Formats: sequence, C-alpha cells, structure tokens
Amino acid sequence: MKKDFQIALVGNPNSGKSSLFNALTGLNQKVGNFPGVTVDKKSGFLKIGNGDSVEITDLPGTYSLYPRSEDEQVTFNVLLDTQNASHPDLVLVVADASNLRRNLLFITQIIDLGLPTALIINKMDLAKEQGMDLNLAALSTHLGIPVLATNARKGEGISEVKRLIAERGAGQPLPFYLPSEEVQPILQELTPINGLQPGYRSFIYLCNHDYLQNISDKQHRELDALISKHNINITQLQARETVRRYEQITGLLGSIEKRSTKEVGKSRTEKIDRILLHPVYGYVVFLGILFFIFQSIFSWASWPMEFIETVFNQLGSWGSANLPDAWYTDLLVNGVLAGLGGIIVFVPQIVLLFLFLSLLEETGYMARVSFLMDKLMRKFGLNGKSVVPLIGGYACAVPSIMATRSINSWKERILTIMVLPLMSCSARLPVYTLLIGMTVPEERVLGLFNLQGLVMMAFYLLGFVAAIGSAMVMKWFIKERNSSFFLLEMPIYQFPRWQNVGLTLVDKAKAFVFGAGKVIIVISIILWFMSSFGPGDAFEKLEQQFATELVDGELSPEAENELNKLKLEHSYAGRMGKWMEPGIAPLGFDWKIGISLVTSFAAREVFVGTMATIYSLGSEDFEETTLREKMMADVHPTTGKPLYSTATTFSLMLFYAFAMQCMSTLAITYRETKSWKWPALQFFYMTGLAYLASLLAYQLLS
Ligand code: GDP
Ligand code: MG
Repeated sequence: MKKDFQIALVGNPNSGKSSLFNALTGLNQKVGNFPGVTVDKKSGFLKIGNGDSVEITDLPGTYSLYPRSEDEQVTFNVLLDTQNASHPDLVLVVADASNLRRNLLFITQIIDLGLPTALIINKMDLAKEQGMDLNLAALSTHLGIPVLATNARKGEGISEVKRLIAERGAGQPLPFYLPSEEVQPILQELTPINGLQPGYRSFIYLCNHDYLQNISDKQHRELDALISKHNINITQLQARETVRRYEQITGLLGSIEKRSTKEVGKSRTEKIDRILLHPVYGYVVFLGILFFIFQSIFSWASWPMEFIETVFNQLGSWGSANLPDAWYTDLLVNGVLAGLGGIIVFVPQIVLLFLFLSLLEETGYMARVSFLMDKLMRKFGLNGKSVVPLIGGYACAVPSIMATRSINSWKERILTIMVLPLMSCSARLPVYTLLIGMTVPEERVLGLFNLQGLVMMAFYLLGFVAAIGSAMVMKWFIKERNSSFFLLEMPIYQFPRWQNVGLTLVDKAKAFVFGAGKVIIVISIILWFMSSFGPGDAFEKLEQQFATELVDGELSPEAENELNKLKLEHSYAGRMGKWMEPGIAPLGFDWKIGISLVTSFAAREVFVGTMATIYSLGSEDFEETTLREKMMADVHPTTGKPLYSTATTFSLMLFYAFAMQCMSTLAITYRETKSWKWPALQFFYMTGLAYLASLLAYQLLS
C-alpha cells in the first residue's frame, strides 16, 4: 500500500500503545520484523478523510532515549535516524495517565528531539478511579504540543485521535531541558561530523552513538575521539539529565494534577493480590491454572487436531485415487500435502495456548506469575515467565517457543527456548506407548499403581529434569547481551478485551503458518524424496520382481505392503539407516530403527508409522498390537536373540526422550531467534545427549 504519511506510536511499556494501535487500525495490520533484529514490527493502515492512507507503526515500549534492550534500540533508531524506513512524520507518544510521572521522562525527551509530536494521555479511566484530575489544556500549553485523552480499552477518544491524524496536527514542541553549559562547546564541534545544530538531539547522538545503526565506522571513531578528548563521563551526564528532568517534571505535575484520596482500582487489586500473591494459596491457585492450561492443550486440542488430520488424510486418499499414478501425485500427496497437514495440525494448540496466555497477560495475572516463580526459576538461569511455556512444552514445543516472547531478558528467553523441546511433548506419547507395551509387564505395584503408567510418568519427569538441568549448564555458556534491569510492574486486575485476545490469536497462528511453514514444507519434501527414491535402479528391479504377482494390474494388499517395505529398505532413507548402523549399534539399534530415526525427524510420532511399513503392515490392517507382536518376534540376525530386548527398548525410549526430532520445533526456533545458530545448537546438543543416554542405558542393561 502507498504510504502518504508515517506515524510512530511510542511510549513506556504497558501504556496502551498496542491497544491504541488496534483501535486505530483494526484488522488492517501486518507483522514483520524490523530489519536486522528479531523485534516484531507491527504496522497498520488507517484511511483518513481525503482517501490518503496513513501508516502507523507500533514501536516497542521504551523507558527513555538511553536504549538498554534490543527493543529500545529499535525505537531509538527509528526516532533518531531520519533515513530509517520507519522514521515518522508524526510521533504519537502514548502515556499512562495513572503513571504520568514516570511517563513524562520519556515524553519530555521526545519533545526535546524536536520532531513533530502529539501526546495521547491514555488510561484516563484509571486516573479518574484513583481520584486524579488532570488539566490537559495546561499540559498542552506547557509542552507546546497537542494533548488528547483516551481510554484505548473502551475506544473512548479514538475519533479525536483520528481527527488529529487527519489534520496532521503536531505542535511546535517547546524545549523542556537543555544539555548543560559545559557540553555546549563539544556539541559545536559535533556539527561538522553529524550535521546537527547543537541541541538535545545532537547531545543524544553523542552519548548514544553506539546504538545507532546507520552511521559509519569512521563517524563512530570520530565521536569516540571527541568523547575521550574532552574527557566526558557519559553516565554522569545522563544521570544529571535524569535528575534535572524529574525536578522539572515534579514542578509541572504540581500545576496540572489534582489528587483526591479515593483509590478504588488499587484497593480492589490489593484485595485480590492478598490471595493470588499469598505464600501458600498463591502457589495453589497458580498450580491449578497451570493444570487447567495443560489439560486443555493436551486434551481439548486433540479434537480439532484429529479433525484436521482426518481431512488431510482424506484429501490424500482422494488424491492418490483420482490423480494420475505418477511421481508428482506422490510428491503432492506424500510430500506437500503431508507437510501442509503437519503445519496446520499445530494451529489448535497454538490458538489454545495463546488464548490462555493472552488472558493471563490481559487480566494482569502474568506479572504475578513472574513474581511468584522468579526466584526459583532464576536459580536455573530461567525467568518467572518461563514457567508457562515450559509446562506448555508437555503438550507441544512449537506454540510454547512462540510464547517465550514475553520474557524480557534475551538470555533467559534463549535458555528457555533451548531447553523447551526436552519436555515430553505429546508426539512422544505414541512412541512411549508402543515401546512400554513391549517391555514393561502389565503389573500392579503395591497393588495400587500400574507399572506401565509409572514408567511413563518417569519419562515425563525425566524430560522436566533434563530441561532444568540443561538450563543450569547452558546458563554458563550463553552470554547476556545487555544487562537489562528488571522492572516488575504489577498492573491492576482488569477484564480481558476480546478484540485484543482475538487479534493475538490470529497473529500467532499466521506467524506460525507463514513463518515456520516454509521450512517445514521444504524438509517434508526432502524427507519424502529420501523415502520414495533410491540410488540406481533398485526401485525398477523391485517393481519387476513383483510384476509376476500382478492380478488385473493390481497387487494384493500383502504383496503391496511387502513391496513398500522393500522400497523403503532400498530408498535413500533406507540406505542412510544401513549406513548409520555401525554408529547406532552400540545403542542396540539396527538399520530398521535407523530408518525410523531418519524419518521421524519430521515428527516423533512418525516412528510408529515407519515401523509399520518396515514390518509391512498396511494402513488398513494396522493395529498397535499387531505391530507390537511383529516387532517382539523379530530376532537379531547373528545372535538369534530377540531384537527388542529390554536394553534396546529403554535405550530407544531414552533416545526419543532427548533427541531433537521435530522439524517444526527447529523451524520455529529459527523463526523466533532469526538465526540458524540456535536451532543448530539445539539439534546437536539434544542429539548428543540422546546418544550418550542411550549408549549408557544399553551398555548397562545388556
Ligand atoms: P503497550 O505495552 O503500550 O502496547 O500496552 P497495551 O496496549 O498492551 O496495554 C497494556 C494494558 O493496559 C492492557 O492490559 C490493556 O488492557 C490496558 N489498557 C490499555 N489502555 C487502557 C485504558 O485506556 N484504560 C484501562 N483501564 N486499561 C487500558
Ligand atoms: Mg505493545
């Protein structure tokens, strides 16, 4: 779409930028990334009276023009670099009326930059509830810019904001604070370097040039030289600026703010917090909520997921039956369609997990979760906000990795992403069920517990212990990028707004399908190729061999299964399985398991299907019991002992517990970290861990 006019929404975190953004742009939104970083770029369009469309960008929350996090650096660059693609024609600063003092630090900094600016005082309802009366006209005169009041939650004041945008009504900001006298001469010297007249903009440029992306190394060197020549202590200058600003802000607030003593919203919140932050009940409630979330993504999501699988299976059968019998049909059905199904099937879990997460976030409970769990999780290098994604990992790592976005610290977020796939996700369930059924007898322990169930539980626990343990180890190897100070705010409790929740769900589903989908489709096609083609003329020979058994041009189901089994054995995947055999023999695995390890890179549950093909079971008569019987009857070619001894099955289960066998997880890790480094590390450390654990188990048990 053509951009006639660019607007940037800036402000402190939690001030209501996104709410205002949603109210202004509705469904006309797109999400991308700011160039070169992983920070989300949300922009949307607003049509104004004369037919022009205005592009509005929701910038990451920022406390000041001294950037600390990657998020703040993005905002910093957009505002300071006039060449930046998102550099605005109008800055809308959104401020939280109930927290005006803190918000004004950033507001006055923006004003001193001299960009066309207007101020939106949001959350007016909260300010009123707290008995605060604000004189916005006086504030506007004081700052020299238009000031509007809104309640972005209820949509109040939005039409005034739209009118202001249509009129392109920015004021002439009045300078609020000027850098102290002693830096003026330095700023004079700066003009030839950056072309800026001495002033606040030039001062910020000097202090924070390290964070500016669009200046040359030469300029950086010149600026550094200038700083050391004049022996400037930047930290001190900034501290002085902050103190000075707050003094002025206090004076300003005194003249525009009247307070009465009633504080309704706060007291309701305090009452609720007496329970939800209680040292005992707090945890009880939290556990209950976790249990509920876990149940729902684990069991409720299974209905729509089964439905999606059925639809894709039927589409596949229809395709195989009605399209020409050629390689491209096979590619379409078993490569592309299977890959597509493998993507769409995650959507219900993603939507459900994010439904709960955005409810927790919207109501204000998420901040309490961080507060309750933070101390404990920090011991492992994680964060209070890691808890919900980790538990979600029991259902599926994919939506849970997407849910780590709310973790503010980069390091803690990466750690959470790295260890999350160790949690026993639901795709491991069919593998465990099959293998436990083969080795663990159906007995009762102490006349009460089912032994098979206990073993299953042990594997679930193992996943959790492995995740926490790996985090503890990795915490020493991953460097913190920026020492982000942690400011935990306790928002007041509020009812969620369904429009916002809905937008989040649509966003997340889209981000997954389009972001990770590409990678998943590509890998599916590669895996399809590996299991449908073989080197040389092996496949033709097999076809010829079976030609004699054709009846009316068709094979009997048994012969067909046998042919499929032989084809798999001679395919590239089969070759790889055999090639892997020496490497995996110490774990008790043979080439057949090798093939399954290759194919279940798509997803762990593919193990069962591959085994069914290897033991030549067709999809019609496939049952877990028959597969189990066939596998148990298999004997080792040289020793003549059962192939699936206790040692082998346990080794195999351990392998599935730890190995990174899920292309969707790798794809989403790539999308969320914007680098192949992390998925690659994830793959290697998890597979290494799996190999060691299996080796140990097999060697000890056999
Ligand atoms: P952002 O971090 O600046 O993008 O802020 P959000 O738009 O995500 O809003 C933060 C929280 O404030 C959410 O829980 C919103 O529901 C709430 N909120 C936003 N605007 C208002 C408002 O005008 N009044 C009230 N009471 N709450 C609001
Ligand atoms: Mg936001």
